[in-house]
Amino acid sequence: MKNNKYLKYLRWLLLAFFLIMVTREAYLHQVQGGGVAPSVHALCPYGALETFYSLVFGGTFLQKIFSGTMILLGITLVLAVIFRRGFCGLICPFGALQEFFGIIGKKIFHKRFIMPIAIDKPLRYLKYIVLVVTIYFAWKTAGLWMDPYDPWAAYGHLSAGYESLTTEYLVGTIVLVIILVGSLLYDRFFCKYLCPMGAVYGIVSKISPSKIVRDKDICINCNLCSKSCPMNIDVAEVDKVISTECISCQVCVLTCPKVGALKYKTGKKTLKTLTVIIFVVGLFFMGVFISKTVGVFEVLPKQITQESQINVEEIKGYMTIKDVSIGTKIEIEEVYKKLGIPASVPESTKLKDVQNFVEGFEVEVAKEKLK
Ligand code: SF4
Ligand code: SF4
Repeated sequence: MKNNKYLKYLRWLLLAFFLIMVTREAYLHQVQGGGVAPSVHALCPYGALETFYSLVFGGTFLQKIFSGTMILLGITLVLAVIFRRGFCGLICPFGALQEFFGIIGKKIFHKRFIMPIAIDKPLRYLKYIVLVVTIYFAWKTAGLWMDPYDPWAAYGHLSAGYESLTTEYLVGTIVLVIILVGSLLYDRFFCKYLCPMGAVYGIVSKISPSKIVRDKDICINCNLCSKSCPMNIDVAEVDKVISTECISCQVCVLTCPKVGALKYKTGKKTLKTLTVIIFVVGLFFMGVFISKTVGVFEVLPKQITQESQINVEEIKGYMTIKDVSIGTKIEIEEVYKKLGIPASVPESTKLKDVQNFVEGFEVEVAKEKLK
């Protein structure tokens, strides 16, 4: 039992690690620019689904999406085939954020709330509707259509400041606040009702050989497993959990007071909780490591070199004045002249920082001037 407590902490530690890593990248992306750190879109497997159509039929990624995003999707789908929604239960940073708000909520209210079944049941289908609608519009508009409404994108822009959150990301911020308040009351509020990626992993998990199995002869019907399940699955009432809602978090197994009453089985093999954690996280990192080693994992735009050729539309705020000149093949003096930048401003200045020297300077306006 003591070991179970440590395993629960280990799971939280892992979730915290992934959340901190993504938050750090999102912060650097905002502060230092898209050429330095990836956006949350580039790190979210959902971005790969959004770009799928444009990649297959146009051979290009949507803006902010890279080969690494596709690889993350591939890795997490493989995980879903083997370990159901193990990504959700052990890795996903947004799942982690909800769990940590859940811990705060439990401290405040001394209990977790459960949605009445008449509301819960239909709401669980909402994530499939979100999936179909968002993918349809992403494919149709050939852009990250969801971006302004995306709570995860709003989270990624927290460090961009109040103005960005209350204008460009107003809807996403409101949805984010609803999710965080919801998470104070209900476990995995977003995962249950809204996450399109959770819907995808759930569908894929249908073919997974993994499941929680309950041994009726050992079980003492204490119901602790059902009460502890963050996805509110009635574990104590079934022989095996094959629900698409199961996130393979292992909480039920770790809460069960009778050794052997609940087991995590992959095919006929029983896997210990630590083994599941090692496999899920290990496969995830192995996939990233191998693809990085062979040079196919990219989550950042390519550096501008003498060989680069970009059009004016592709200019970004993180590019320096020199990058713009090299990439667009416009003479550097001409760039300074057209953009009205004094010669005293170093050519290594990022476009987004030029406003510190030239009042009212805006990247979008600069692009128009260079056209
Ligand atoms: S359902 Fe979505 S938000 Fe929740 S853990 Fe899974 S991928 Fe993350
Ligand atoms: S059934 Fe068990 S492993 Fe599945 S979500 Fe519930 S607590 Fe987690």
